Parts: sequence; structure tokens; C-alpha cells
Amino acid sequence: MSVAKKVLLVTGGGRGIGAATARLAAKAGYRVAINYASNEAAATALVEAIEQAGGEALAIKGDIGSEADIQAMFESIDHAFGPLDALVNNAGVVDQRARVDEMSGARLERMMRINIIGSMLCAREAVKRMSTSHGGKGGAIVNVSSIAARIGGPGEYVDYAASKGAIDSFTIGLAREVAGEGIRVNAVSPGIVDTEIHASGGQPDRVERMRHGVPMQRAGTTEEVAAAILWLLSDGASYTTGANLEVGGGR
Ligand code: NAP
Repeated sequence: MSVAKKVLLVTGGGRGIGAATARLAAKAGYRVAINYASNEAAATALVEAIEQAGGEALAIKGDIGSEADIQAMFESIDHAFGPLDALVNNAGVVDQRARVDEMSGARLERMMRINIIGSMLCAREAVKRMSTSHGGKGGAIVNVSSIAARIGGPGEYVDYAASKGAIDSFTIGLAREVAGEGIRVNAVSPGIVDTEIHASGGQPDRVERMRHGVPMQRAGTTEEVAAAILWLLSDGASYTTGANLEVGGGR
């Protein structure tokens, strides 16, 4: 009798840290739902690469800033893969470098809607499916936060740092809320990781500029963050909940 494969959703899984997490999870035997916002080509190419390597994956378009998209996405996963076992709340955005006294309300609303509310709504849908009090069989959630929550992002993006601070509090609270229902909730806080997020915030040279301030003198790779996420999802972390694992090269 074959053992049922665990089902994992990675939000923002088409590129960067999410893509490395999806790749590693598929290799570890998860069936992986890969959510993306607009870069269909990247998500589809990743699904093909996973399938060619013998894994199972599915690309799902959906804006994590939209409650309707989130609900539709979870329903698609229910139909395609069955009940969810694991969620990685990875989708996140930055914005152009700005001081707080220059930030518009629209900017703040977008940042908080995607980075905080989106993660909380995805966790809500995951808990409804995983919690033993809802008839589920338990599961694991990893929220992707940032070392920015501790540093504050002054002169660059305090709003982003604050959104990740909210994720840290959310991780502690949700972990305690569902600890008796078979669900573990943890966070990973990357430092500076070499992805396209820096260019999306108008700073393509950010990794090269900032790496000298990292005790290890280099940026992290997406694979190094993915390895931490996969460990927190795994049974090896069975007594770990409410933790925040920094992957920042000592920063
Ligand atoms: P990235 O390379 O820019 O990739 C972001 C991914 O998120 C893409 O797949 C993108 O989809 C998706 N996404 C963006 N907005 C979305 C939305 N509204 N709905 C659904 N998906 C959305 O970013 P990354 O560097 O891998 O960052 C991933 C996470 O790590 C974020 O939460 C970020 O804050 C955190 N982080 C990153 C660093 C770093 O230095 N890179 C450091 C600390 C924390 P498309 O492909 O469709 O555009």
C-alpha cells in the first residue's frame, strides 16, 4: 500500500525563496501547490521541472491580497490534491525606498494587505482544513518573516519591517492557539537573500551593497532559506512551535 503524499501550498512559489522551497519540498515527497500572482511562465516552468524530476506540482494563479482569490485557491487545492498538510506563507512585497513621512496611504494598504492580511487569511483557510477540532489530521505552517522586523528598515521601508513584525506576533499567537489541535506554526526570518525582490523595490544593487554588513560577508541563497523552512515543516521539528528561525548569516 502506498503512503499518501503530504500536500503543501507555497504562496508566491513561482520565484525566489518560494520556488526553492517548492523544489526542495517536491524532492522530499510533498505534492506541491505553487501559487503565483502574475508570472505564469516562471510558475509553469517550475511545475514542469518538478514533474520531470518525478515529483507532483500544480501552479495556481491568485492574488494573496484578495480574499476571494485565496478562497478559490484553497478550493482548487482541495479538488486537485485533497486535504492540505502544510502551508508556507511566503508571498510578500517590498516597495520603493522611502521615509515614513513620504509614504502614501495606498502604499501602506497594499503592503499590509498582501504581507499581513493575506498571510492571516491563508492561515485561516489552512487551520480550517488541518485542525483536529475541524476534523482534520493536523499540519504545519511556516510564515516567512524577515530580519527587517528586528532592524526596522529605517530610511528604506519601515512599512515592510512593520508588516513582518506583525507576522512575528501572528506566528506566536496562532502557534499557541492551535498547539492543542495538531498544528505547529513557526516563522523563518531571512536576512539578505539574493532574489528579484530587491530589484522589484527599485534597488537591483541592494544585495551587493548590503552584503558587506553581514557578518558572513555574503547574501544567503534561496536554497539555504528553503532548507530551514523544510526542517520546520518536518517531523524533525515535532516539538517546535511558535519559534522564529533566523537565516541571516549572523546579521
Ligand atoms: P521574489 O523573488 O520577489 O518572489 C516573490 C514571489 O511572491 C513571486 O513568486 C511573486 O509572484 C509572489 N507574489 C508577490 N506578490 C504576490 C501576491 N499579491 N499574491 C501572490 N503572490 C505574490 O521574493 P523573495 O525574495 O523570494 O521573497 C519571498 C519572501 O521572503 C517574502 O515574504 C519576503 O518578504 C521574504 N524575505 C525576503 C528576503 C530577501 O532578501 N529576498 C529577506 C527577508 C524576507 P509572481 O512570480 O507571479 O510575481
